[in-house]
Amino acid sequence: MPSDADDAAPVADLAGDHVVVTSGPTREWIDPVRYISNRSSGKMGHSLAVAARRRGATVVLISGPTVLDHPAGVTCVDVETALQMRDAAHAHLAASTIVIKAAAVADYRVAAPLAQKIASRKDRPLALELIPNPDILRELAARRTGAFLVGFAAETHDLRDHAAAKLRTKGVDLLVANDVSRAGIGFEADDNEALLLDRWGGVLALPRMSKRRMADAILDRVRHLRAGPPR
Ligand code: C5P
Repeated sequence: MPSDADDAAPVADLAGDHVVVTSGPTREWIDPVRYISNRSSGKMGHSLAVAARRRGATVVLISGPTVLDHPAGVTCVDVETALQMRDAAHAHLAASTIVIKAAAVADYRVAAPLAQKIASRKDRPLALELIPNPDILRELAARRTGAFLVGFAAETHDLRDHAAAKLRTKGVDLLVANDVSRAGIGFEADDNEALLLDRWGGVLALPRMSKRRMADAILDRVRHLRAGPPR
């Protein structure tokens, strides 16, 4: 992936930080060959991991399946399901100073995945029972001891209201909200545009830019907010 930010001189302003990033979609298996997933490409999460590493942090990237390469210098933990992502996120929480949950976690999983491929019976409907996945972000917010926590919200309408509600219910410090109904930004795209809402009432609108640049803008905001409550 060509990058406009890779050319930037390395700034070690996150040296000493331990950053955990989750990225990509999860896969919820129906049977050994079929799964439920979503459109997340992992580009935003991987860009965040690359940017944090370039800025001197120790980085763990917990990612669902994507076509992207493992970034150099980053500890990569490959997962498939939401439950696997949850285990990995909890395992790395204690050592982290910043946790960024950019992954698009499936809200539901199949209650009873089958060990063998479901036989094709096109003469009758097939019902799948789905059960809710744990909300990893809320769990991390409840259990963290000091890490700065960043969540994402992908919305198709009423972006600001939904994002403000999520900021509260998820218990995060910073929420990055994208409008995924618009072409050219959000899921799968190389660009993004976002509203950054923080727990101190601040709102920062980031205009359309590459996900590489946005990764740096998000990390800049984290540093700014960590420096003290905004005036
Ligand atoms: O509720 P919603 O899925 O919109 O929330 C998005 C945010 O919550 C993202 O940061 C995502 O990684 C996280 N999330 C999670 N576990 C879930 C669902 C979402 O950590 N089961």
